[in-house]
Amino acid sequence: MHLSTPQLLEIVAAFPDSTLVFTEDGYCIAHLGDQEAHEFSSSRLLTGRFVSDVFCEEKAKWFLQQIRNSIFEQRLRVSEYAISPEDIRLPNCESAKLEREQWFEARILPLNSFIDGQRAVVWAARNINERYKLEQQLRRLSETDELTGAFNRRRFFESLASQYRTFHRHFLDCSLIMLDIDNFKRINDQYGHPCGDRVLKQVYQQMCAHLREADICARMGGEEFAILLPNTKTNDALHTAERIRQAIEQHQFTALQRQVDVTVSLGVSSIAVSDSNSDSVLQRADDALYQAKKTGRNQALQFHEQFSI
Ligand code: GH3
Ligand code: MG
Ligand code: MG
Repeated sequence: MHLSTPQLLEIVAAFPDSTLVFTEDGYCIAHLGDQEAHEFSSSRLLTGRFVSDVFCEEKAKWFLQQIRNSIFEQRLRVSEYAISPEDIRLPNCESAKLEREQWFEARILPLNSFIDGQRAVVWAARNINERYKLEQQLRRLSETDELTGAFNRRRFFESLASQYRTFHRHFLDCSLIMLDIDNFKRINDQYGHPCGDRVLKQVYQQMCAHLREADICARMGGEEFAILLPNTKTNDALHTAERIRQAIEQHQFTALQRQVDVTVSLGVSSIAVSDSNSDSVLQRADDALYQAKKTGRNQALQFHEQFSI
């Protein structure tokens, strides 16, 4: 038994995923399938148009690159990508349906035959928005401290290892601040554990107010935090540590029934050329923090060689 051409077309049209055919210049000749109902379909938007007619320059370039790479490598490529309202330059009712970013997975396969004298690819796109958002949520949960919302130890050590590699490859400075709340046990003892928890959260918020987006602030356990500051020299990290110290000293902790002074001690260090592993910088920040505690608390100190003796 053979399938007739109309039968074949009907079968292809029933595919749930959106299947596009692009020539190597980024022209979308046809789309097939796309039976799965989604709020937005880029295939209806693209059919009969060049990617550069539909998308902004950067996104169109990306599509073209994927098409050409697949043709050049003569193999299946799998890519994940997002389309957001800002990516679309075509004023069209279909694009109006795109209210927020949508994630897709494309499987891009080069065709053997030429279309209109050009090489071409089949681009099978699946909407993976739900899965992507869930993955994001799970990743966030797996790297976040539940109480404060800071990163957890695991994420901190991942980032430290990555910054350590970057330092040794590109000599990009990276500093570290260790912070420990002073006499925190007393706060717990006087006001109760739930109150201590609220202090922890607010200390974290005060720290965040003085950090950049690229900085990684993690709760290392108990009332101890570590902050990784990429592209930062020791002296600048020390200034940041001092600003955090002052902010916490001046902050009125609303979790407490009456005004209680909360202070922190901080130790600062930087990754050094002589380091043979990423633990050394952590040890130096710890030594500086220990020194800050030993010599009066409520201060930020930079590591000095004599601290480790
Ligand atoms: P120091 O200035 O030397 O750091 O003194 P400290 O009292 O802050 O240090 P210590 O290590 O003696 O006590 C830390 C306290 O932190 C003891 C522990 O009960 C408390 N703690 C640890 N984790 C939590 C938490 O998640 N919530 C609350 N409320 N307390 C915590
Ligand atoms: Mg403490
Ligand atoms: Mg401690």
